[in-house]
Amino acid sequence: MNTISRRQFVKGSSLLATALTLTACGGGAPAAEAPADDAAADASSYTLVNEGKLTCISNLYFPPFESMDEKTGEPVGFDIDMSKSLAEHLGLEINWLPSQAFDSLVPTIKAGGTADVAIAGMTITDARKAEVDMSDPYVDSNQSLVTKTGSEDTLETLNAAEKKIAVQAGTTGADWAAENLPEATIVPLDDIISAMNGVLTGSYDGLVTDLPVSAYQIKNSFTELQIIEEIPTGEQYGIAISKDNPGLTAAINEALAAMVDDGSMAQIQTTWFGSEL
Ligand code: GLN
Repeated sequence: MNTISRRQFVKGSSLLATALTLTACGGGAPAAEAPADDAAADASSYTLVNEGKLTCISNLYFPPFESMDEKTGEPVGFDIDMSKSLAEHLGLEINWLPSQAFDSLVPTIKAGGTADVAIAGMTITDARKAEVDMSDPYVDSNQSLVTKTGSEDTLETLNAAEKKIAVQAGTTGADWAAENLPEATIVPLDDIISAMNGVLTGSYDGLVTDLPVSAYQIKNSFTELQIIEEIPTGEQYGIAISKDNPGLTAAINEALAAMVDDGSMAQIQTTWFGSEL
């Protein structure tokens, strides 16, 4: 990892901002007015754990945002396609590391040295913002309460000590369950697929997870689960970046804006959700 002086950083980031503004205003046309050394200016405004690559971490059990292709084991999903486009806009290659526990992502980014970003359907929260930088939002999300088809349970009946509610550890769904089902037995798991399987087999009475994930999974694979509550938490997903790398946060925010302007974000949303979110 190379470090740069504050002076270099300020110079690099202002050039970067200029270059990206020109690109954004040009509507996809080559920014003829941009200075010739743009690429160098971009690279000097932030550090990367692997030169020329945007190295990403996630928990790869959160479809359709991220999961592993059954045949190849490669990461696939909305966040993966989004990260490819993001890297392209930054002039970088993409490098996905193996899946890790969701609640280890923020600590890993904070510690530095392993990955540049966590892209994980991660809600922007004040607690996370105290530990890492979060990019501008790129997806809106809500929570959902899920039971097995045929279950008569409601939000009210699930709020009892004998009811087991599965959540993914360290998520906003886990926080919501702790707050709104205070009597229930909350079971934190490594991933939401295990939670879905557990509700299916009767190990748990219900689960709480992000609505786009439960809706997608129920439609495509867990057809014997049902959403009994859509919970309008008004969450927004962002990308987690080290606070020691503010130039990367700025560059990612510019790239996300460019992806909205040039239609690539809408295209990726349509690919995975059938329409723009
Ligand atoms: N959006 C939720 C959170 O940030 C869940 C994310 C996830 O499980 N990957 O806590």
